[in-house]
Amino acid sequence: MRRLTVLSGPSGVGKSTVVAEIRRAHPEVWLSVSVTTRAPRPGETHGVQYFFVDDAGFDRLVAEGELLEWAEFAGNRYGTPRRPVEDRLARGEPVLLEIDLQGARQVRRSMPAALLVFLAPPSWEELVRRLVGRGTEPPEVIERRLDAARVELAAEKEFDVTLVNTSVQDVCLELLALMAVR
Ligand code: 5GP
Repeated sequence: MRRLTVLSGPSGVGKSTVVAEIRRAHPEVWLSVSVTTRAPRPGETHGVQYFFVDDAGFDRLVAEGELLEWAEFAGNRYGTPRRPVEDRLARGEPVLLEIDLQGARQVRRSMPAALLVFLAPPSWEELVRRLVGRGTEPPEVIERRLDAARVELAAEKEFDVTLVNTSVQDVCLELLALMAVR
Protein backbone atom coordinates (compact mmCIF):
# COMPACT_ATOMS: atom_id res chain seq x y z
CA MET A 1 0.00 0.00 0.00
CA ARG A 2 1.18 3.51 -0.82
CA ARG A 3 1.38 5.30 2.47
CA LEU A 4 2.11 8.92 1.77
CA THR A 5 0.39 10.57 -1.20
CA VAL A 6 0.94 14.20 -2.12
CA LEU A 7 -1.60 16.06 -4.26
CA SER A 8 -0.17 19.16 -5.87
CA GLY A 9 -0.47 21.22 -9.05
CA PRO A 10 -0.81 24.78 -10.31
CA SER A 11 -2.87 27.27 -8.37
CA GLY A 12 -6.41 27.46 -9.68
CA VAL A 13 -6.47 23.86 -10.88
CA GLY A 14 -8.99 22.75 -8.24
CA LYS A 15 -6.95 20.90 -5.60
CA SER A 16 -9.06 22.13 -2.72
CA THR A 17 -12.29 21.14 -4.52
CA VAL A 18 -10.95 17.61 -4.90
CA VAL A 19 -10.03 17.48 -1.24
CA ALA A 20 -13.44 18.85 -0.20
CA GLU A 21 -15.09 16.07 -2.23
CA ILE A 22 -12.94 13.39 -0.58
CA ARG A 23 -13.84 14.85 2.81
CA ARG A 24 -17.54 14.70 1.86
CA ALA A 25 -17.69 11.30 0.16
CA HIS A 26 -14.91 9.49 2.07
CA PRO A 27 -14.80 10.80 5.63
CA GLU A 28 -12.78 7.69 6.58
CA VAL A 29 -9.76 9.01 4.64
CA TRP A 30 -7.50 10.98 6.91
CA LEU A 31 -6.34 14.29 5.45
CA SER A 32 -3.48 16.21 6.95
CA VAL A 33 -4.66 19.58 8.29
CA SER A 34 -2.10 22.29 7.51
CA VAL A 35 -1.11 25.26 9.61
CA THR A 36 -1.40 28.68 7.96
CA THR A 37 -0.89 32.36 8.73
CA ARG A 38 -3.66 33.26 6.26
CA ALA A 39 -6.93 34.55 7.73
CA PRO A 40 -9.88 32.12 7.67
CA ARG A 41 -12.31 32.54 4.76
CA PRO A 42 -16.04 32.53 5.47
CA GLY A 43 -17.09 28.97 6.26
CA GLU A 44 -13.61 27.78 7.25
CA THR A 45 -13.22 26.27 10.71
CA HIS A 46 -10.06 26.10 12.82
CA GLY A 47 -8.88 22.48 12.84
CA VAL A 48 -10.93 21.45 9.78
CA GLN A 49 -9.56 23.21 6.66
CA TYR A 50 -6.55 24.65 8.52
CA PHE A 51 -5.10 25.45 11.90
CA PHE A 52 -4.96 29.25 11.78
CA VAL A 53 -1.96 30.73 13.59
CA ASP A 54 -0.24 34.11 13.76
CA ASP A 55 3.31 34.80 12.49
CA ALA A 56 4.89 34.22 15.90
CA GLY A 57 3.07 30.89 16.24
CA PHE A 58 4.28 29.79 12.81
CA ASP A 59 7.86 30.90 13.61
CA ARG A 60 7.73 28.75 16.74
CA LEU A 61 6.57 25.66 14.82
CA VAL A 62 9.41 26.12 12.29
CA ALA A 63 12.02 26.68 15.02
CA GLU A 64 10.90 23.59 16.92
CA GLY A 65 11.02 21.40 13.82
CA GLU A 66 7.30 20.66 14.08
CA LEU A 67 6.65 21.05 10.34
CA LEU A 68 7.37 18.32 7.80
CA GLU A 69 7.52 20.99 5.09
CA TRP A 70 6.42 24.57 4.72
CA ALA A 71 6.25 27.25 2.06
CA GLU A 72 5.27 30.82 1.48
CA PHE A 73 2.42 31.23 -0.98
CA ALA A 74 0.87 34.54 -2.06
CA GLY A 75 2.09 36.35 1.05
CA ASN A 76 1.09 33.74 3.63
CA ARG A 77 2.89 30.73 5.10
CA TYR A 78 1.54 27.18 5.03
CA GLY A 79 2.99 24.03 6.61
CA THR A 80 2.27 20.39 7.38
CA PRO A 81 2.39 19.39 11.07
CA ARG A 82 4.92 16.57 11.30
CA ARG A 83 3.63 14.53 14.25
CA PRO A 84 0.16 13.43 13.02
CA VAL A 85 1.61 12.40 9.65
CA GLU A 86 4.44 10.39 11.19
CA ASP A 87 2.09 8.71 13.69
CA ARG A 88 -0.21 7.50 10.93
CA LEU A 89 2.59 6.35 8.68
CA ALA A 90 4.07 4.44 11.63
CA ARG A 91 0.72 2.63 11.99
CA GLY A 92 0.68 1.87 8.26
CA GLU A 93 -2.29 4.14 7.58
CA PRO A 94 -2.57 6.11 4.33
CA VAL A 95 -1.94 9.83 4.49
CA LEU A 96 -2.93 12.48 1.92
CA LEU A 97 -1.31 15.91 1.75
CA GLU A 98 -2.69 18.70 -0.44
CA ILE A 99 0.16 21.18 -0.72
CA ASP A 100 1.76 23.60 -3.17
CA LEU A 101 4.62 22.74 -5.53
CA GLN A 102 7.38 24.00 -3.24
CA GLY A 103 6.04 21.76 -0.47
CA ALA A 104 5.80 18.78 -2.82
CA ARG A 105 9.48 19.22 -3.72
CA GLN A 106 10.44 19.26 -0.04
CA VAL A 107 8.51 16.03 0.57
CA ARG A 108 10.22 14.48 -2.46
CA ARG A 109 13.58 15.22 -0.82
CA SER A 110 12.72 14.22 2.75
CA MET A 111 10.46 11.22 1.99
CA PRO A 112 11.50 9.73 -1.36
CA ALA A 113 8.96 6.88 -1.03
CA ALA A 114 6.02 9.30 -1.22
CA LEU A 115 3.77 9.15 -4.29
CA LEU A 116 3.61 12.58 -5.90
CA VAL A 117 0.40 13.27 -7.84
CA PHE A 118 0.13 16.25 -10.19
CA LEU A 119 -3.34 17.64 -10.76
CA ALA A 120 -3.43 19.11 -14.27
CA PRO A 121 -6.11 21.32 -15.86
CA PRO A 122 -8.07 19.84 -18.79
CA SER A 123 -6.49 22.54 -20.99
CA TRP A 124 -4.53 25.78 -20.79
CA GLU A 125 -7.69 27.69 -21.77
CA GLU A 126 -9.59 26.17 -18.86
CA LEU A 127 -6.86 27.15 -16.38
CA VAL A 128 -6.87 30.70 -17.78
CA ARG A 129 -10.64 30.80 -17.38
CA ARG A 130 -10.38 29.70 -13.75
CA LEU A 131 -7.51 32.04 -12.91
CA VAL A 132 -9.10 35.05 -14.54
CA GLY A 133 -12.24 34.18 -12.59
CA ARG A 134 -14.78 36.94 -12.29
CA GLY A 135 -12.64 39.42 -14.17
CA THR A 136 -12.37 41.76 -11.21
CA GLU A 137 -8.56 41.88 -11.24
CA PRO A 138 -6.49 44.38 -13.23
CA PRO A 139 -4.79 43.01 -16.38
CA GLU A 140 -1.28 43.18 -14.87
CA VAL A 141 -2.35 40.99 -11.92
CA ILE A 142 -3.89 38.48 -14.32
CA GLU A 143 -0.68 38.51 -16.38
CA ARG A 144 1.39 37.78 -13.25
CA ARG A 145 -0.87 34.86 -12.34
CA LEU A 146 -0.68 33.45 -15.86
CA ASP A 147 3.12 33.72 -15.88
CA ALA A 148 3.19 31.83 -12.58
CA ALA A 149 0.82 29.20 -13.98
CA ARG A 150 3.11 28.58 -16.99
CA VAL A 151 6.02 27.91 -14.64
CA GLU A 152 3.85 25.72 -12.40
CA LEU A 153 2.61 23.60 -15.32
CA ALA A 154 6.22 22.86 -16.28
CA ALA A 155 6.64 21.06 -12.91
CA GLU A 156 4.49 18.14 -14.07
CA LYS A 157 7.52 16.08 -15.12
CA GLU A 158 8.79 16.02 -11.51
CA PHE A 159 5.72 13.99 -10.46
CA ASP A 160 5.03 10.24 -10.43
CA VAL A 161 1.46 10.47 -11.76
CA THR A 162 -0.68 13.09 -13.50
CA LEU A 163 -4.44 13.25 -13.01
CA VAL A 164 -6.38 15.54 -15.34
CA ASN A 165 -9.11 17.46 -13.55
CA THR A 166 -11.96 16.93 -16.01
CA SER A 167 -14.39 15.70 -13.34
CA VAL A 168 -13.96 16.12 -9.59
CA GLN A 169 -15.60 12.73 -8.93
CA ASP A 170 -13.29 10.92 -11.36
CA VAL A 171 -10.18 12.54 -9.91
CA CYS A 172 -11.28 11.52 -6.40
CA LEU A 173 -11.78 7.90 -7.46
CA GLU A 174 -8.42 7.81 -9.22
CA LEU A 175 -6.70 9.34 -6.23
CA LEU A 176 -8.32 6.89 -3.80
CA ALA A 177 -7.27 4.00 -6.06
CA LEU A 178 -3.69 5.27 -6.03
CA MET A 179 -3.85 5.45 -2.23
CA ALA A 180 -5.35 1.92 -2.19
CA VAL A 181 -8.39 3.15 -0.22
CA ARG A 182 -11.51 1.14 -0.95
P1 5GP B 1 -5.40 28.51 0.03
O1 5GP B 1 -4.98 29.78 0.69
O2 5GP B 1 -6.10 28.77 -1.27
O3 5GP B 1 -6.18 27.62 0.96
O4 5GP B 1 -4.09 27.69 -0.34
C1 5GP B 1 -3.08 28.26 -1.11
C2 5GP B 1 -2.04 27.23 -1.50
O5 5GP B 1 -1.38 26.71 -0.35
C3 5GP B 1 -2.61 26.01 -2.23
O6 5GP B 1 -1.80 25.77 -3.38
C4 5GP B 1 -2.44 24.88 -1.23
O7 5GP B 1 -2.20 23.64 -1.89
C5 5GP B 1 -1.21 25.32 -0.50
N1 5GP B 1 -1.07 24.68 0.82
C6 5GP B 1 -2.04 24.39 1.71
N2 5GP B 1 -1.51 23.80 2.79
C7 5GP B 1 -0.18 23.70 2.57
C8 5GP B 1 0.91 23.15 3.33
O8 5GP B 1 0.77 22.64 4.42
N3 5GP B 1 2.13 23.24 2.76
C9 5GP B 1 2.35 23.80 1.55
N4 5GP B 1 3.59 23.79 1.08
N5 5GP B 1 1.36 24.32 0.81
C10 5GP B 1 0.10 24.27 1.32
